[in-house]
Amino acid sequence: MVEESKRTLAYICPSCRQAVIAERSVFQLAASANAIPCPCGKSALRVEMMGDRVKLTVPCLFCESDHTVACSSKAFLHEKTLAFACAASGLDCCYAGEEAPVFAAMKRLEEAVDKLERDAGEKGAFLDELVMHEVLSELKEIAQRDGISCACGSRKWKLQVNYSSIDLFCADCGAAMRIPAATASDIDDICCRNTMVIHGK
Ligand SMILES: [Zn+2]
Ligand SMILES: [Zn+2]
Ligand SMILES: [Zn+2]
Repeated sequence: MVEESKRTLAYICPSCRQAVIAERSVFQLAASANAIPCPCGKSALRVEMMGDRVKLTVPCLFCESDHTVACSSKAFLHEKTLAFACAASGLDCCYAGEEAPVFAAMKRLEEAVDKLERDAGEKGAFLDELVMHEVLSELKEIAQRDGISCACGSRKWKLQVNYSSIDLFCADCGAAMRIPAATASDIDDICCRNTMVIHGK
C-alpha cells in the first residue's frame, strides 16, 4: 500500500474542547461525504469531495460556529499537512494530512488554546474591556441620579457583571434586566438614557 492511501484529520471540539483526530482512507473520502464526530456527540467535522475540490465544514472553537473551507483534492490527498485557519481569530481550526505532522500540529494548537484561555482568565475576562468600563460608568451615573428603578416600584437593586453583559436585579421582586456590554453600540444605547426600569417578567 502506498503511504498516502490514508489521511489524518483533526479539529478541536468547541463543545467539550478535546482534540478530535481521525483517520480516513482515500477510498472512504472519495466514496461519500464523511463526518468525523467528536465522541461527545456535540460537533462533527464534515468532509466532502467534489471532483477536484474538497469542501470541509469545520466546527470552530473560537467562533463557536462552523467554517466552510475548501482546497484542491490533490493538495488534500497529497500534502504532508494542510492547516485551515479561522478568519476571525487567525488561529488554525483544522488540520488534514499525514498522521505524524497532523498530531504535532494539533499538539501545538492545543498549547496555544490553553495559553489563550489562561490569558483570558488572568485579564478578568470581559469580551471588550473598554466597552464594559464605559457601560458600567454610564450605569453608575444613572444610579447616582437615582434613575434605576423596578416596574414593581422598588428602587433597591443589585448588579452582576458578566463576560459581555451586566445584569440588574430588583432586590424586592427579583425581576432581572440584562444590559449588553459587548460592542460600541451598546455604549451608545446606554449613553442616551436617563433612567432604567427593570421590567418584571
Ligand atoms: Zn466534543
Ligand atoms: Zn472561527
Ligand atoms: Zn421589582
